[in-house]
Amino acid sequence: MKLEGRVAAAIDERRASDLARDLYGFEATARALPGEYDDNFHLVAPDGSQRVLKVMHPARERSLIDLQCAALEHVASRAPHLELPRVCRTREGATIAVADDGDAWRLVWMLTWVPGWIRDAIPLVADARRRLWAELALARFEAEAVPALPRLRRSVIHGDANDYNVIAGDPRRQPRPASVIDLGDMHRGLTVAEPAIAAAYVLLGKPDLLAAAAALVRGYHAACPLDETEIALLHTLVAARLAVSVTNAALMKTRRPDDPYVTINEAPAWDALERWLAIHPRLAHYRFREACGRPPLPHGPRVAAWIGAQDAAPVLAGIDLRDAPSLVLDLGVSSRLLGADPAAAETGALTRTIFGAMERTGVGVAVGRYDEPRLLYSSDLFGSGPAIEERRTVHLGVDLFLAPGTPVHAPLDAVVHIRAHNRAPLDYGPLVILRHSTGEDAFFTLYGHLSADSLEGLAVGQRVRRGEPFARVGTRDENGGWPPHVHVQVILDLLGRDADFPGVAPASERALWTSLSPDPNLLLRIPQDRFPPREAPPEATLAVRRERIGGNVRLSYRRPVKVVRGFMQHLYDETGRAFLDVYNNVPLVGHSHPRVVRAVQEQIGLLNTNTRYLHDGIAAYAERLTRHLPEPLRVCYFLNSGSEANELALRLARTATCREDVIVLEHSYHGHTSMLVDVSPYKFDGPGGRGRKPWVHVAPLPDGYRGRYRRSEPEAGRRYADEVGAIVDRLRSEGRGLAAFLAESMPSTAGQIVFPPGYLSEAYRQVRAARGLCIADEVQTGFGRVGTHFWGFETQGVVPDVLVLGKPIGNGFPLGAVITTREIAAAFDNGMEFFSTFGGNPVACAAGLAVLDVLEEDGLPARARRVGEHLLAALRLLQDRRPLIGDVRGSGLFLGIELVRDRTTLEPATEEAAYVVERLRDLGVLTGTDGPFHNVLKVRPPLIFSEDDASLFVQRLAEVLAEDAASP
Ligand code: PMP
Repeated sequence: MKLEGRVAAAIDERRASDLARDLYGFEATARALPGEYDDNFHLVAPDGSQRVLKVMHPARERSLIDLQCAALEHVASRAPHLELPRVCRTREGATIAVADDGDAWRLVWMLTWVPGWIRDAIPLVADARRRLWAELALARFEAEAVPALPRLRRSVIHGDANDYNVIAGDPRRQPRPASVIDLGDMHRGLTVAEPAIAAAYVLLGKPDLLAAAAALVRGYHAACPLDETEIALLHTLVAARLAVSVTNAALMKTRRPDDPYVTINEAPAWDALERWLAIHPRLAHYRFREACGRPPLPHGPRVAAWIGAQDAAPVLAGIDLRDAPSLVLDLGVSSRLLGADPAAAETGALTRTIFGAMERTGVGVAVGRYDEPRLLYSSDLFGSGPAIEERRTVHLGVDLFLAPGTPVHAPLDAVVHIRAHNRAPLDYGPLVILRHSTGEDAFFTLYGHLSADSLEGLAVGQRVRRGEPFARVGTRDENGGWPPHVHVQVILDLLGRDADFPGVAPASERALWTSLSPDPNLLLRIPQDRFPPREAPPEATLAVRRERIGGNVRLSYRRPVKVVRGFMQHLYDETGRAFLDVYNNVPLVGHSHPRVVRAVQEQIGLLNTNTRYLHDGIAAYAERLTRHLPEPLRVCYFLNSGSEANELALRLARTATCREDVIVLEHSYHGHTSMLVDVSPYKFDGPGGRGRKPWVHVAPLPDGYRGRYRRSEPEAGRRYADEVGAIVDRLRSEGRGLAAFLAESMPSTAGQIVFPPGYLSEAYRQVRAARGLCIADEVQTGFGRVGTHFWGFETQGVVPDVLVLGKPIGNGFPLGAVITTREIAAAFDNGMEFFSTFGGNPVACAAGLAVLDVLEEDGLPARARRVGEHLLAALRLLQDRRPLIGDVRGSGLFLGIELVRDRTTLEPATEEAAYVVERLRDLGVLTGTDGPFHNVLKVRPPLIFSEDDASLFVQRLAEVLAEDAASP
């Protein structure tokens, strides 16, 4: 029988219940089940027995139902252990009945109910709290996902994209999915189930579940766009998936109690489910929308447009910010108004700064900007753990700094939604949240740091008319010590957080939170031309740099770091993210050390000129510097860089010896001038280099790890020195005169090399025997960095004839120095004046003196030794676990970590080293590579580096090395 041409009337639950009673004698309540074509109902009888009633679409053929019934009976007879739906018979004993529905005949049949096993298994979960989580996940699934099922796209999905099934590419390169295995779960299902399942795996064990899931969804969406309905269900589907995992584990535990594999993922999945359900579903929805390139709040743009179109009343009594004089402050990461130390935002000083600026400019109100990343928020409320962990920095409101007691008015008609005193854990004073309506949507405005009496007489639910005063600005004492101000914030969705709604967001979630809290200037209307320019985003800076700066002025890192502030061992990017600086040896006593900064500021504010006048600065500095040096190093020349200093050192040697030739070490680098490129094999033998000049002679690098003679060889030092001696002999036999042997006391560019014992003393002896001079380039190694000694040459028991200093000498202020003997200086003083316009200027000498002050007073060389030993020990422990680390070497805070693919062949792990450097940068640690194969991680941090910094570095390094799946 074919039932055609008649329109199907919808079967409602009542009618389904009647059909069950009339046709099957089954008294039950009916609930509609989702279905695309037929009408299906879940029947529950008063005694708890359950059935499924299927009322087929009028166009359905009877043969299709017959086939299904036959198939079910066949499977039931062949596989009796399977729990299958059984076909129920009508009162007349038939498998199919016909319902006359007025306009249509509908085929009806009934099956026994096979419960969804997760609902069934939930009671097996022993812990009552956990049971509730699983039930909550299931309830959300039934309430939100099930009704949406007919609207969701279906496709064939992998169905199990977990960390074991997605294989990352060659671990030496940037990880990217290279392969997908295990198609055992492949099926046709909901398209969105694919990212939901993968996200449920990805977030296990992660500190920030939503960030992990959003990253996955971002990647999935980029390849396979999700639609709005699918995005809206992701949170629910991920929860459901986690609930399936944990209930399945509970079920398996009852079946195979002794099998540890059954429950291996149980603990992380429970943890994830609990934390996932604690995330507000709308917050997750907005985050996923953002990850998929949509406005995070679907209604955000509409509400912002509405607010912007209103004639809002001034928020401050008598001050219409549209034309009243105001001063918009820069309190951002690179603010000049704040002190050097970002962790010491001292609110008293801030008050004086802000109110002082207002007084100077004669304005009644100063403005703190919206969407401004700030380092002001130093309390644990804004982030905890090491400084390089992301903290909340981005201000979501506008601050209006002005006299306490100023009345605050409602900008638009409102109802008081929240009145609260923000006491714990810090007393920030009373706040009020007003609720407004656009007619279509509700939104809120928040006013923080009000006076204590503001809350009196203000009731929740009370109406406040546009322009009506409702509170006053609090005093410093009332708002936790911050300068008197009202924080005005617009909030489009309170997400159930009410008074705890954040006023400051992490930069990684900036798009999300600025969408939840749009710019309050929509209401305040402070003219745009009052606002100081914003920090250019890194991409803009990069674009200008590409246009205007030479291409081989290189940037570090694939994603270059834009730094806008430095303090001690940390550098800060434009979002306020802190990086631990592990390799910049220039800021010897710490970036922007206040003592050095003050010395430079004071001197440049007084006098800066050249060495043709008498000045105590250069005299005092030369005195102080030579006090750190052994005899006969007594005469100083000051310059502006290490290169200039090396240039002068070579001129001194050539003038004093009346000879030309120079011996240098393999792979060494001594500076960027023409002559220094000629004596730097790293350059003349490197890309773009033009080869060795006849007057330059290269001795083997005394590298005890991969060089000609190894550390195990007791005579390695002497043997390498003999190589220098061999060159000296050859020069003599060729009739060439040796001017100098130029070497770093611990080669840096060549790979953070420590000479074997006895090397320099023997090499110097052989050079001096040929009446050549010994020049020590201590641009990298001087000033206590090596810990055991103040100078690198001291570790080898020698004293050079000429010492070259640079880099750390001025803690970042351009300065270089050459110190030599009276005899050599006298030979150089041959009638030709030596003059450098800037060399030895009073400001540079003030910087140099301040550096020595800090080094001496804070005992930094001893600290470098102590922290260096701690670091070496930690690195060696890591080396025991990681075959990639072939060698750990160095002294004090001058260390190298050499990465190799094979500890026997020493094949350099160049790409791996580049990978490690990039990943460390992602994790907030800045380092770089050195050595001829660029496979040595250089560790040369500021000497104020602490044991904690050292441990953090090693911990991050260990994390990155653990990412190599080949060596778990
Ligand atoms: N000598 C050594 C050992 C260096 O490492 C450098 C700089 N990397 C220089 C000299 C040149 O110094 P500057 O860049 O200040 O000219």
